[in-house]
Amino acid sequence: MMHAVAQFAAILASALFILSLYWMNDPKTARHAVVAGVTGMLVAVLATWFQPEIVHHGWIVLAIVGGFVVGVPLSLVPLTAVPQRTALSHAFGGLAAGLVGTAEYFLGLGGGEHGAPLTTFRMSALVAEVILGFLTFTGSLMAAGKLQEVKWIPQRPVTYPGQNVVNIGVLAIAVALGVLVTRQPTTAWSPHAFITIVGLALLFGVLLIIPIGGADMPTVISILNSYAGLSAVAMGFVLGNKLLVTAGALDGSSGLILSIIMCRAMNRSFTNVLFGAFGTVQKIAATAEQKAWKQETVEGAAQLLEQASSVVVIPGYGMAVAQAQHKVRELYDQLTKRGIAVKFAIHPVAGRMPGHMNVLLAEANIPYTALAEMDEINPEMPQCDVALVIGANDVVNPAARYAKGSPIYGMPIIDADKARTVLAIKRSKNPGFAGIDNELYVQDNTWMLFGDAKAVVGDLVKQLTGRGLH
Ligand code: NAP
Repeated sequence: MMHAVAQFAAILASALFILSLYWMNDPKTARHAVVAGVTGMLVAVLATWFQPEIVHHGWIVLAIVGGFVVGVPLSLVPLTAVPQRTALSHAFGGLAAGLVGTAEYFLGLGGGEHGAPLTTFRMSALVAEVILGFLTFTGSLMAAGKLQEVKWIPQRPVTYPGQNVVNIGVLAIAVALGVLVTRQPTTAWSPHAFITIVGLALLFGVLLIIPIGGADMPTVISILNSYAGLSAVAMGFVLGNKLLVTAGALDGSSGLILSIIMCRAMNRSFTNVLFGAFGTVQKIAATAEQKAWKQETVEGAAQLLEQASSVVVIPGYGMAVAQAQHKVRELYDQLTKRGIAVKFAIHPVAGRMPGHMNVLLAEANIPYTALAEMDEINPEMPQCDVALVIGANDVVNPAARYAKGSPIYGMPIIDADKARTVLAIKRSKNPGFAGIDNELYVQDNTWMLFGDAKAVVGDLVKQLTGRGLH
């Protein structure tokens, strides 16, 4: 009876996980996706907990309390810090898989007295689990540290000659030791070799991340997500837990698909990402600083907007920092009331996490129909009267098209520069995430509105409201 209930729960949880991923495809169903995912996980945990072989309930309660103590504050971080928070979650997932794998190996060494026997199949899964788990742990910690701008972790890519040979060499030694331990798991040297594999995996995680520059970090976090999923698959085989295999496979494959989509969006080669071989920054000629920045007043900008027939709003990280989305909604209302066609151009890596802009704009109830993806909006940009850039920088930087050696070279951008007029809101002349100048701001048809995005957009709304409809 208990077995049948567990089987049913596993199927139900798997179905909920698949539905959750499916519903995530569309902002309209994304909330259902969250509910389905959480319910699936609850069913999975309860179904596993009530297995007859689980006897130490106190430890499980303690682990759940520990999870809450860490998880609740983590869930309260601002939206702008979600990428590093996600990286931390992957780190915990990787650590859990690595520790379970290590414990299962040492239990199995006792000749099957406490743990299951170390068969070749089990050993292969164990080795995969600890390598993937521990490299995900240190790699994700490094990625979180880089994004959080922790002082002692260099933000810029750290590269040296022969780096790939060293990195691949470390991984190859770990895999070779893994093959040896799999063949002879219980000889005198095997536990030492196993611990060496753990050490090499931890080291590989660090080596994998240090050559990677900030602009590529989102893709790397997504790949680490995929590694965490794969280590969970291996753990599922080790523990004989089918649900863990399904959940890990979904996690691993969705992370992989997201990484590929992001690689395409940023024009990165996926193999380079896998081997952490990109992100080298070379100095590029600074062109922007030689030209003058032209400023516009809020009154002038409001007039330009009022006279336009089509406006494309290009939001970026600055809109998130300023929490300007509600003011942006008011501006949208003011403009559409005047019969102006307003669209929001969404770059796949605008902000600090995939879908960042979609989440903010949905929060402000901006209709989904007003949102356009990069490929859809770019052909329309030459006919656009005003491109209103709100706290976006790298995703509208024309240097991405031609500046070889720039960290954003090859990344497709939103063609704001092709609009008839560009209005750009930012606080200063500082660069964006990739740390490079942006010639869009000094282009002949660009006018800057310096200030906090929420305040400037609020002032624009006031101007338009004060003018009334003509
Ligand atoms: P960005 O290049 O980081 O530029 C943001 C701009 O917003 C800055 O130039 C900043 O200029 C301005 N800003 C900041 N606070 C502001 C405020 N309160 N009011 C007005 N402006 C403000 O952003 P982006 O164009 O969205 O590009 C995203 C970058 O992040 C890309 O390089 C991408 O690869 C990277 N990234 C993306 C993700 C992802 O998954 N989406 C994750 C991690 C990294 P001032 O300081 O002068 O105001």
